[in-house]
Amino acid sequence: MKLLIPGPVELDSEVLLAMAKPLMGHRTPDFEEILVECWRLLREVYQTRNDVAIITGSGTSAMEAAVASVIKEGDEVISITGGKFGERMGEIAQAFGAKVRRVDVEWGNTFALEDVERAVAESNAVAITLTHNETSTGVVHDAKAIGKLAREYDLLFIVDGITSVGGDDVKTDKWGIDLCITGSQKCLAAPPGLGFVAVSERAWEAIENNPRKRAYYLDLAKYRKSLAKNTTPFTPSVTLIYGLYAALKKIEEETLEARIKRHRTLAKATREAAKAMNLELFAAQRCASNTVTAIKIPSGLTDDDVRGALKREHGILVAGGQAQLKGKIFRIGHMGNVSFSDLVQVLAALELVLKKAGHELKPGEGVAAAEQVFASQK
Ligand SMILES: *Cc1c(COP(=O)(O)O)cnc(C)c1O
Repeated sequence: MKLLIPGPVELDSEVLLAMAKPLMGHRTPDFEEILVECWRLLREVYQTRNDVAIITGSGTSAMEAAVASVIKEGDEVISITGGKFGERMGEIAQAFGAKVRRVDVEWGNTFALEDVERAVAESNAVAITLTHNETSTGVVHDAKAIGKLAREYDLLFIVDGITSVGGDDVKTDKWGIDLCITGSQKCLAAPPGLGFVAVSERAWEAIENNPRKRAYYLDLAKYRKSLAKNTTPFTPSVTLIYGLYAALKKIEEETLEARIKRHRTLAKATREAAKAMNLELFAAQRCASNTVTAIKIPSGLTDDDVRGALKREHGILVAGGQAQLKGKIFRIGHMGNVSFSDLVQVLAALELVLKKAGHELKPGEGVAAAEQVFASQK
């Protein structure tokens, strides 16, 4: 099955092979060397000088670690929503006793800065959360603007960068992100099962000074103590770290700059192809994601006509809509290692299944539009 979903993504053969290596003791100099390299490479991808905690667990465990480590019961937290993952962050804060004030954003669109500013000004919040790239709607939000606001009001800025770090431009330090979360199986093109949090000095202070922390395994203070000794607080998944290291080396080889550009070109090509196929994009143009594209299922067609047929007839997996978008949209993930030829395959197959289901389009025009985008890149 060919995966064009927003994670897990297909892995490079070098990454797969790296995970076939025999295990090492996790407290040995040989393993320490690999971890130290992973940290160095992660800081590059994150564009940060901050420490990065490596957690064995999916992306959500890193979200939980970030929130649980800085939040005390009764703290006010501003949570910008606008999709399933934005909501998840608010739910986690709530689970740890925060009073969550949501800034609701229409799904498929981005926030109005004045709405966020009003919520911040009217509250006694200690933190603000943002999903940088909302995977469920295919929207990228302006994290830089919220970072500025967070500084002005002295809030901790917690960002879910799970589908942006390593695929889109995430300036952790420049934008003032205090806790920047990502996961292994999305833009980093590593195996699922690892979560990461880049933690600023301000956030470390908040963590050290949190007397009523409700976390143990996910207490980031423990990760900091271990980081100082080049190790992890608990047994890491040695195998996944091998995979991560190989994946991060591939990113270094490609360069972050080229990787971001590739993702942007893929996104643009997908959008242009969709329009040429007489399809409607779900996300507003000004905030369309660079790593995943949400497309409306044309009226009269079902999810099975599109996604089911792609899977059955072409062996291609794309993602469906989540929550209220179930059956209304499908999402093409073009993150990680996706190449021009991968994208063209899905676009060509999409033309065939749409045509067969009675959607009006001229076969070839979607692919041609994508080609045009690639041809115009320098
Ligand atoms: C995938 C995803 C998550 C959840 O990650 P898991 O690894 O499934 O726990 C959270 N936020 C965003 C934006 C995601 O895309």
